[in-house]
Amino acid sequence: MARFDGPLLEKLSAVAGLEILEPVAFAQLTSLHVGGTPRGMVRATTSDALAHAVKLLDEASVPLLVVGGGSNLVVAEGDVDLVVVLAANDAVNVSEQGIVHAEAGAVWDSVVATTVEHGLSGIEALSGIPGSAGATPVQNVGAYGAEVGDVLTQVKLYNRETKETGWVKPEQLELAYRYSNLKFTNRAVVLEIEMELDPSGVSIPLRHLGGQQVPVAEARASVLELRGQKGMVINPEDHDTWSAGSFFTNPVVDKALADEIEAKVGEEGMPRFAQPDGREKLAAAWLIERAGFRRGYPAEDAPVRLSTKHTLAITNRGGATASDVAGLARTIRDGVEREFGVRLVPEPVWIGMDIDDIQK
Ligand SMILES: Cc1cc2nc3c(=O)[nH]c(=O)nc-3n(C[C@H](O)[C@H](O)[C@H](O)COP(=O)(O)OP(=O)(O)OC[C@H]3O[C@@H](n4cnc5c(N)ncnc54)[C@H](O)[C@@H]3O)c2cc1C
Repeated sequence: MARFDGPLLEKLSAVAGLEILEPVAFAQLTSLHVGGTPRGMVRATTSDALAHAVKLLDEASVPLLVVGGGSNLVVAEGDVDLVVVLAANDAVNVSEQGIVHAEAGAVWDSVVATTVEHGLSGIEALSGIPGSAGATPVQNVGAYGAEVGDVLTQVKLYNRETKETGWVKPEQLELAYRYSNLKFTNRAVVLEIEMELDPSGVSIPLRHLGGQQVPVAEARASVLELRGQKGMVINPEDHDTWSAGSFFTNPVVDKALADEIEAKVGEEGMPRFAQPDGREKLAAAWLIERAGFRRGYPAEDAPVRLSTKHTLAITNRGGATASDVAGLARTIRDGVEREFGVRLVPEPVWIGMDIDDIQK
């Protein structure tokens, strides 16, 4: 097993902007508050240090995980055989013309708040999404009809295969719904993102306001309010927000299956959205509810429950383990599949285990 000690630690300590920390458990690093302790932990306060740390660990064949806000991770309990590289490079620069640069470790919602203060439009609908700017291209974060891919112009990557750093166009990341070719592959590290926003001060058309366009500050406030009601803004006091956000992606199915499900449920207005390939995207939360899983399922005293505000969030009520999370996720996935023939796919990144609780 590759070692994380002596000479490697010396090399890492010599990197400017890199601190070596005592490792803390993923239960403290993640928004789900589950998971064991990594082998080691380093914190990079500059983009160069972030790339350099990853390079040195790769050269020593030490497994690593870049962590921003820990809001899209489900990590196994016990000893976790990797070194956490915390992205803490957080400079943000906004030009009058609407060009925004944010380093990977910048808190995403602070980036949104800054752009809104400058009267820039484009990411106000992405207010309140937890985590870091650097993680936003990883799964092309989105909400209320907007995605970061709509405004990304370049992403600065450290490519772990070529060991080179450079700006790439979003096309090279194959951004799609909650997907990029960075997600699950760890092939590159995002060091910085560049976005081009609109200086008009008027929001994009907002789905939750019936397509209305309003001043950006008003748009941000309305999104934060709506997300707050659904437990989708992190609040340490509220266990409904001890989650990884939406636990499953919205499934895309053949039209015939969508028709079958609508007929079976027999309700007017099933949410279904036509896709360019003729298939249809359904709402995972709607399917979960129609399969019989209500908010707060299974019980008030369960360690892991569906949020009491939103059926798509699996939440830790305080003493849960990663296996508890996987157990409820399986119950939901299998229940929806039995009822409707649709197998839901988890949205978060699993580390050291998977939804079937198979340790990796
Ligand atoms: C309450 C709540 C609400 C949420 N709402 C939404 C939502 O509306 N829309 C949405 O899309 N998501 C949502 N999420 C999910 C999550 O916030 C996003 O996926 C976010 O972008 C994750 O950022 P992070 O920094 O916390 O990533 P982490 O959890 O730290 O990491 C997630 C993955 O990204 C990788 N990664 C992180 N930083 C980098 C980097 N710099 N370079 C390369 N890889 C990196 C990690 O290695 C890991 O594989 C929500 C989560 C919560 C808890």
